[in-house]
Amino acid sequence: MTAQRLLLATRNPKKLAELRRILTPVIDVEVLGLDDLPGFDEAPETGATFVENALAKARDAAEATGLAAVADDSGLTVDALNGMPGVLSARWSGRHGNDVANLELLLDQIADVPDERRGAAFVCAAAFVHPAGFEHVLEAEMRGRLVRQPRGRGGFGYDPVFVAEGHTMTAAELTPGAKDAISHRGKAFRELTSLMAAQLRA
Ligand code: IMP
Repeated sequence: MTAQRLLLATRNPKKLAELRRILTPVIDVEVLGLDDLPGFDEAPETGATFVENALAKARDAAEATGLAAVADDSGLTVDALNGMPGVLSARWSGRHGNDVANLELLLDQIADVPDERRGAAFVCAAAFVHPAGFEHVLEAEMRGRLVRQPRGRGGFGYDPVFVAEGHTMTAAELTPGAKDAISHRGKAFRELTSLMAAQLRA
């Protein structure tokens, strides 16, 4: 029997690989990304929350393709900045996706914040929308603190300045597998997987 197809509404190959690693042992499903399908108009991410953005992306993708779709939205919430950059994490410096500029701006903004108040969390909302009408969205987080000097060459975004609770290495110094095991996205995708498995088998 041919595997069912599930669309992950992203063009990020690392997210695709991560969802494939989590899903394929659980259910016989072929995970596609946006680059595997003809293009459609992708609405800009204008939601005020991670949940709104993830749900909007999954709904758009399911509607445009007729496939069951998963989408995520994530970012860094910094205690000393009242939860910012939050949904603006990817474009904090004004340039979308410029990881180095975003990280440098953030470090400058909290330069005077003492170590005991440098708490932060990565947050990920993951949404699943089935064309038959079923949808689900959930949120997961990885708490930690921000260090003053970037360390490590792995990961992306704010990973080089983020140390997860109970750890000493930054997220950029962890192996991909070690990061997946504790990360906001790993937790959200794993939680969504059992829900999706039930729906996709139905
Ligand atoms: P998106 O949900 O993939 O659009 O991610 C939004 C932004 O949040 C990214 O551009 C990063 O700046 C930040 N971000 C989300 N997840 C992570 C992570 O696991 N490590 C580092 N930065 C992240």
